[in-house]
Amino acid sequence: MTKIRILDPDTVNQIAAGEVVERPASVAKELLENAIDAGATSILLDVGSDMAGVTKIRVTDDGAGMTAKEALLAFHPHATSKIQDIADLSTVRTLGFRGEALASIAAVAEVTLVTRPRGAGALAGTRVVVRGGEVVETGDVGAPEGTTIAVEHLFYNTPARRKFLKSRNTELAHLYGVVENLSLAHRGIAFRVVHNGKERMAVQRSGELIATIAGLYGADLARALVPVRGRLPFLSIGGYVSRPSESRGNPSQVVISVNGRSISSRPIAAAVREGYGTLLPKDRYPVAFIDLAIDTDLVDVNVHPTKREVRLSREREILAAVAAAVEEALLGHDLAGATPAEPVQQVLTGERPEAAPAAREAEAAYAAGHRDIARSDRQLRRTEGEGEENLLPAMEPVGQVAATYIVAEGVDGTLYLIDQHAAHERILYDQVAERRDAAPGSQELIMPVVLSLPPKESAALRDAMPFLAEEGFEVEEFGRDTFAVRAVPAALGAMEDPESIRETIADILAGESRTTPGRREAVTCIVACRGAVKAGTLLTHDQQRRLLSQLARTKTPWTCPHGRPTVVAFDRRRLDGMFGR
Ligand code: ADP
Ligand code: MG
Repeated sequence: MTKIRILDPDTVNQIAAGEVVERPASVAKELLENAIDAGATSILLDVGSDMAGVTKIRVTDDGAGMTAKEALLAFHPHATSKIQDIADLSTVRTLGFRGEALASIAAVAEVTLVTRPRGAGALAGTRVVVRGGEVVETGDVGAPEGTTIAVEHLFYNTPARRKFLKSRNTELAHLYGVVENLSLAHRGIAFRVVHNGKERMAVQRSGELIATIAGLYGADLARALVPVRGRLPFLSIGGYVSRPSESRGNPSQVVISVNGRSISSRPIAAAVREGYGTLLPKDRYPVAFIDLAIDTDLVDVNVHPTKREVRLSREREILAAVAAAVEEALLGHDLAGATPAEPVQQVLTGERPEAAPAAREAEAAYAAGHRDIARSDRQLRRTEGEGEENLLPAMEPVGQVAATYIVAEGVDGTLYLIDQHAAHERILYDQVAERRDAAPGSQELIMPVVLSLPPKESAALRDAMPFLAEEGFEVEEFGRDTFAVRAVPAALGAMEDPESIRETIADILAGESRTTPGRREAVTCIVACRGAVKAGTLLTHDQQRRLLSQLARTKTPWTCPHGRPTVVAFDRRRLDGMFGR
């Protein structure tokens, strides 16, 4: 005969613990989420392991802390300070609300809690030790403000669970993954991870998603991303997606957060993928960081014990908006290698007689031409200006030679050859020098440019920071050998191309040891050179004409800032002479 009985509370808690506490990473996740909910600005995760696996997980925060009474209550099942009744669930902003984590963890491990409420006297700390659900020690201690919770002997009383743990490195990888996701969703908090005494991760408080991404995955990845924006009355979409060239074999790098909650969602990941259309092969996935802010009453957070999933009302509209936002983000960007939108025939010299015979090569050249044109356009737009064209004789471009020299015809039949790079350098130099003198100061970049440097260059940049600040660069170090450029000299105008900012700074560092006025000239020269249309770049007829008209407005159109000629002329008489006419 089976006898029905009510399970004792310890057994109930151990069973419940199975849902919340799957592995060391889930313990870390719960503790970190509690620290975030407590308003921490800086969180340390200290992990210990031996050959067999993770032996200790300790989280220290500088959050609100707890009184002695709260510290004991916190270990009771369903004890929470975050909601009062079910109605609160529709507006809950905290990560926790079930009041289960601490009770569950304490049911299957030994937990030591040390906490002191903010603003309370230095000795008002409390220490509580709970083992297998039983409080085994409590007392007053001196403690810093905030909370430290250490979990040891995990699964000591549930051998079945222990057996399912993977290798130490797998468990550690899961753990680091938890910190990555939380730090991406909570940019206002600094996270540090120490493993067996060695620092493994340090994510600075950045405020900006792109800076956190760069800190976690490196500047190269950050550079391969384009921003995503989208909006519905009840939804706002933010984040970044990778250019198609940066793809992965699985969807694990599609990171999604909903109202600051890092979640996994197949439908949202699929919507992101859909936004790429045919830009990605079938078996490839993008790298994406998608932040969704959704009216809280449309989000049901109470569908999963570890809150890894959420249920969305109006899901179809949300998914469509995500796909559309991703598509739009990709359309608006110069995707290296993508099909050009402009017919290349517009480029005079695009129709070179020795055009590549193989279709594939032709296509590549086609795309390269398009990229050139788009870049030149940005560069020329930067130097577009008013003013009289009086210093250069009137001339009309005929075409380009070697994608480097513009060939132009003067009204009187003079043949002009113009070095396009030198000419644009002159234009830029004049403008930058003028703006530098008229309006010194900085211009903030819409998106900070992140630089990751080798240690030696980092040291040079650190040394040069005061000088760069004088020139109007605002550079901030925010990680080991990682810097964010937040502002550039106002004279650089709309110089926002990360690559040219990076190169400009590298050049400045290379020629750094000069006197201030000399240095200033050098910076102006470098900026002019960097920002100028390069030799070997195809220009459309219109671009050639704009370049000449801009050159005509400079004060000294005939030489570049380095003193080399920008224009050489062969007048009609000379031409005639050459042909013996
Ligand atoms: P929940 O987070 O769902 O409320 P937990 O079991 O994770 O449940 O935590 C129980 C309670 O303990 C929390 O509601 C909170 O009041 C308190 N608490 C836990 N961790 C911390 C912490 N690091 N700082 C301050 N209070 C904490
Ligand atoms: Mg919690």
